Amino acid sequence: MAKVYVGPAGVPMGLKGKRSTLDGIKYVKDIGLNAMEVEFVRGVRMSITDAENAGKLAREIGVRLSIHAPYFINLCSDKDSTVEASIKRLMESLERGEAMGATVVVFHPAYYGKLGPEGCYNAVRESVMRVIELMGKEGISHVKLGLEVMARRSQFGGLEETFKLVKEINNPQVVAVVDWGHIYARNGGSIDYKAILNMWREYFGNQPMHTHFTAVKYRRGEWVDEHEPIDTNNPPFEPLAQELAKEDLDITIICESPLLEQDALKMRDMLLKYGNTMA
Ligand SMILES: [Zn+2]
Repeated sequence: MAKVYVGPAGVPMGLKGKRSTLDGIKYVKDIGLNAMEVEFVRGVRMSITDAENAGKLAREIGVRLSIHAPYFINLCSDKDSTVEASIKRLMESLERGEAMGATVVVFHPAYYGKLGPEGCYNAVRESVMRVIELMGKEGISHVKLGLEVMARRSQFGGLEETFKLVKEINNPQVVAVVDWGHIYARNGGSIDYKAILNMWREYFGNQPMHTHFTAVKYRRGEWVDEHEPIDTNNPPFEPLAQELAKEDLDITIICESPLLEQDALKMRDMLLKYGNTMA
């Protein structure tokens, strides 16, 4: 069975009022979940002190925190200023992640653009190496940098190229983040959970896995990265819960469906039903 951490991407919807990160963490725990991703997707607007306080509370009550870095990142831009701004946004996210005791800062690495897949692979590697160097200088030694597997074929982040790059970089603070919905969309509406879990073993052994789950939409003849409730079953969650029950694995599953914590609870129930445990 897998040891699972499940929770919403961002402050739960059911929380009314000011909707602070601190209240979000408490709410997540109260409803029986044990993870939350803090969303910096529209910009890094949290102070270091607030990050420290969020981390302190999360540790006390047992909620695993992670961060989603801003969307405005492209390590393969032909503009140097965009690459520099991307690295800056990553560093700002990582500083807060370290202060928070977050496990990972997840980010969308790049669009292939003019560089194409091979040139982009090298450009992403180069920038990630620079980030590692900066992390060393700033004393960021716990939080990991997570390269997310992406849905669009114009984006860097196929499953194989992501795993290959992370393996090649071979630094304990750089990991691949599996987004099950993205893989399903990129594959044209199919996914083989068992094969992906086997591939994870092959590349990364028994390293903990950080993942995102949502269903995605079929529109005008193709699968697109638009999030849908998990009941739409594209992809279905239940077979993943079943596969995970056969694995000895530490895994975080962040629910990115529009129903956030409601779907996270459904996922939790399915995971437990098949014998997985929650930390
Ligand atoms: Zn993402």
